[in-house]
Amino acid sequence: MTRRAIALAPASLPAAAYDFSCRRCARLAGFLDTVRGDHPGYFCHPVPPFGDGKARLVIVGLAPGKHGANATGRPFTGDYAGILLYGTLFDFGFGSEPESLGAGDSLRLVDARITNAVKCLPPDNKPLPAEIRECNAYLAVELATLPEGAAVLALGRIAHDAVLRALKVPSRGHAFKHGASHALDRGVRLFDSYHCSRYNTNTGRLTAAMFKRVFRDIERHLNRERSRAHTA
Ligand code: SF4
Repeated sequence: MTRRAIALAPASLPAAAYDFSCRRCARLAGFLDTVRGDHPGYFCHPVPPFGDGKARLVIVGLAPGKHGANATGRPFTGDYAGILLYGTLFDFGFGSEPESLGAGDSLRLVDARITNAVKCLPPDNKPLPAEIRECNAYLAVELATLPEGAAVLALGRIAHDAVLRALKVPSRGHAFKHGASHALDRGVRLFDSYHCSRYNTNTGRLTAAMFKRVFRDIERHLNRERSRAHTA
């Protein structure tokens, strides 16, 4: 499969939600060129959102991992960070398989999509504030398509802040806190979780039980909104 074939954002998202050839952040574009030289088989482009373009659950991570999404072209795929995420999505009926093996496998997300606040691999996993702001234009286009009553799950504070910025919601009164949720416009609710990184799961900062509790809250919200829509 070619890099460009892998790099298809869900067809029902607006074209402006993703650009395979974006080089707006000079530092990140240069870094990708270097990593591509070291690892010719790696994807090494902005990583597109993966899943259902009309999903009611959108998960927002930070940025691709060097040997994970940056290598495979699919968010949270190829390294440790995706193990808990895809397993939990499967447990709650949002995934057809419990793991993501790589672009081209049979995994389908059901009413869910995964995207990143920053689409390109940053050195040391640390995007600069200006890069987060630059890439927010793509996230804003993507989140503008959220259905009424949707749920957005932010994995970590940077993703949380990026979601608020993309939706033009003032951060005042919406501080990031694991397990918290924030009512936004049109019945949309933002849920916060620590990032499911290897560091956080190995240190116990985020356990599988804690992550499941966040998903239970999301499930309750989506069920409530579905009933409300049916009775309206
Ligand atoms: S991080 Fe986003 S805005 Fe920056 S170069 Fe990559 S895709 Fe473009």
